[in-house]
Order: sequence, then C-alpha cells, then structure tokens
Amino acid sequence: MVMDKSYPVTLLQDYNLEEWARCSYKFYNSRILNRHPDVLNWRQMVQYAVNHVIHDGYALPAEQRTPEHIEHLIAKRWKIRPSLFPSAYHEKLIRRTVTEQLIRYFTGHRQSGPLLFLFESYTVRVEELGVELSMIVQVAEWSQKSFVIRKLFVDSDPDVISCFQHVATLFCYKAFGKLPESIEALSLLTGQTVETCPTAERDVAGAIHYVRTMMERFEHSMYTPRLFSQTECHSCPFQETCTSVPPTRRMADGTFIRVS
Ligand code: SF4
Repeated sequence: MVMDKSYPVTLLQDYNLEEWARCSYKFYNSRILNRHPDVLNWRQMVQYAVNHVIHDGYALPAEQRTPEHIEHLIAKRWKIRPSLFPSAYHEKLIRRTVTEQLIRYFTGHRQSGPLLFLFESYTVRVEELGVELSMIVQVAEWSQKSFVIRKLFVDSDPDVISCFQHVATLFCYKAFGKLPESIEALSLLTGQTVETCPTAERDVAGAIHYVRTMMERFEHSMYTPRLFSQTECHSCPFQETCTSVPPTRRMADGTFIRVS
C-alpha cells in the first residue's frame, strides 16, 4: 500500500526499524497514525522483563549467575498481566522456555570476554543516508580479535533478526570505524543463535542498501501487512482492516485457526 503523504526521516532508531520490519502495517497505524499507540502484547512485555533480567544478571559476579539466581531474577521481573497471553498454558510455556534459555545463556557465557557495553544507547551520523542512526547496544563484549555484539530476542522472526544485523553492522562501522568479530542474535523462544561475521567491503554496503530501502518505504508510507503470525496477530488491534488476517476462529486456548 502507498499513501499520498510522505514522512521525511532525520533519525532512525533501531527499535523502530525492527518494529517496521516485523509488520509495517501495524507500525504505520500505531506509530504514525497514532492509533492504539499504547497497546502492548505479551512479546513486548516479556522482552521488557528479559532486558531487566539481563541487566541484573550481568550485575552479579560471574560465579553467582547460577540457575537459582537467574530464576530468582525472573520471578522478580516477571510482572506481566496474564490476560496479555492467549492462555494460562501459553504464559507458562513461554515463561519456562525463556527461563531455560536465560539460564543456558548465563551459565554458558561465564567465560566470555569482559563487557564493553550493556544497554548503552548511541547515535551516529550516516552521511550516505543523510540521517542519524541510534542504537541501544544490548550486550557487547571484547573478544579475541575485537568485539562481539549480541542481542537476546523474545522473538524468532527472521525479518527482525536480519534488521538487527544490518543495523548493527552499519552502526558499528560508523560509531567505531570497525566491525565486530560477530553479531549474534539469540532467540529465547527457540534457543537458536543466528550469527553473522560482517566484512567491511561486502556487508557495510549491504547494510546501507538495506536501511536505505527501509527508509524509502517508510518515507513514502509503503507499508504491507506481514504474513499471518500467531505471535503478533492474535492481539493486534488492526486485525479488522488487515488483509493479512485470514478468516479465523478463536480457540479456547486463545490461539487462532483458519476456517477456510
Ligand atoms: S494483524 Fe498481523 S499482519 Fe495484520 S497488522 Fe496486525 S500484526 Fe500485522
């Protein structure tokens, strides 16, 4: 879809780019037209809790990042309205999965390099695009050759992960004049890590192209609904006008099934 209006961009924020990559139709309605701007879904609230747990976990000495301590941190930070989840069973499943993955993460990274950044926000100028680009670096660690950028997602959407990796590539190149040894996106829902090892010649140009394309689509309001997703669509306030939502029936556990 293309609207008449255009929205010149001067500042790109990583979290807005990721939301745009997740579903540009939802982003356009929520953030640009300001319809239901405050509606949060369980994924966003779990991510919020997880970010606090990561922060608290790194504040502990490495030897104290035990399963018991991580579970305690999750119990402290999990303040999510149960009604945001499709069902009580779903909440239990998500909480158990996220807990297992965070324990695995903290116990598996005890020997990692020293922290470089933890939830630090920076803004850089990207002359090629004529914009400022800001990024919140969730975790960055020194590595043997240089440094590693890492993000733990309550998500497994490949478009969002690709967006993060492109933005991180461009951001690091502009901020530090140097690329990280690797950029890792860990899904706390699947346990999978998608790793990329960018090189200046190939990947910086690719990242500029990627961000430019997103920017142009945004500026000209070229938005499209995503493919139907149980995670995102079940609580989306724009279902009624969204062409991506097939005829569905809500089941007792809160999930949807197609009816045609
Ligand atoms: S229902 Fe799904 S595809 Fe449609 S706008 Fe909402 S999140 Fe996007």
